Amino acid sequence: MIPVTKTTLPDFDDFASHLKDVWHTAVLTNNGPLVKHLSAALAETLGVEHIQLVSNGTLAIQLAIKALDLRGEIITTPYSYVATTNAILWEGCTPVFVDVAPQSFCIDANLIEAAITKKTTAILATHVYGYPCDVVRIQEIANRHNLKVIYDAAHAFGVRLNEESLLRHGDCSTLSFHATKLFHTAEGGAVVCRDEKVAKRVFLMSKFGHVGEDEYLDLGINAKMSELHAAMGLAVLPKVDEIIAARCERSGWYDRYLADLKLQRPGVVNGLEYNYAYYPVVFNTHESMMAARKLLQAHNIFPRRYFHPSLNTLPFLHKNLQKPCPVSESLSQRVLALPLYVTLTRQEVNMISSCIKNAITV
Ligand SMILES: *Cc1c(COP(=O)(O)O)cnc(C)c1O
Repeated sequence: MIPVTKTTLPDFDDFASHLKDVWHTAVLTNNGPLVKHLSAALAETLGVEHIQLVSNGTLAIQLAIKALDLRGEIITTPYSYVATTNAILWEGCTPVFVDVAPQSFCIDANLIEAAITKKTTAILATHVYGYPCDVVRIQEIANRHNLKVIYDAAHAFGVRLNEESLLRHGDCSTLSFHATKLFHTAEGGAVVCRDEKVAKRVFLMSKFGHVGEDEYLDLGINAKMSELHAAMGLAVLPKVDEIIAARCERSGWYDRYLADLKLQRPGVVNGLEYNYAYYPVVFNTHESMMAARKLLQAHNIFPRRYFHPSLNTLPFLHKNLQKPCPVSESLSQRVLALPLYVTLTRQEVNMISSCIKNAITV
């Protein structure tokens, strides 16, 4: 069976040596030494100043929304994982969908201003598959209208734009360290903040707003990362360069094997150092995508319709929020994320590519 992704496990002995530290101190949570160590190591690796580790990438978005005091309408992308929209709804805000650009698959900066109303407080966009949003124009728009900017950067670990971390853009960028992501802690996430004050508030809010013995300074929730999860992160982090290099190599194989099919791929922008988090391909029609998927499944290969459905069509959304987003809806009908992980072999990439060729050139 070839799944869409396989978790990169560290060497067990590496993981065990970090666990030994946990046994030594018997500190399992509450911002223990391993979380502190991982947090410092991530700040260094990613090239960011303020990073708060949390228990998952969805709570990371929710905490960013809370720490920035967002209310009312949040302009967002329909082309992302459901967590992006759900975090907005869960925090009692209203998602206003703005369609994506056909080249980047990220929110179309040209369409944002028309969606701004008196109630708009922020833009929450996803660097989808790790490809950057139009961060410069989005910041200009935000400045002009006094809006906050949050990037769901769950796919953007290690991505750099013009020689700096993509995570340095926006008021907050949120990361997911779920087992399926490029860098992981089994479950985990982080909020990267531009402003130290916001970072401190995220930290406080992630631990019930509770400090010292009995001071409760702010509304909070429990979003702490445990020491056991940090141990996994400390064991995986030294492998990240290898992980990215292996994914880059496999993406190159797909590029070559699929070149003559001219499948649509997200466009690469100047100055991008990509992380090869995903290998999405967009077919000409829904039917050809489904035919390829069917043939792949018959060969025990399981790509994912990532992202489908377009989030503006989620069934539990109020009708008024289901604004048409033709580009996103069309992409979501035609896209497949192909298997991509460190141990995927060249022969497997060849086989997957042949299946796709056979399915769509009959
Ligand atoms: C994975 C993912 C999330 C959610 O992260 P969890 O850690 O699973 O909560 C949010 N947004 C995007 C775009 C994701 O891919």
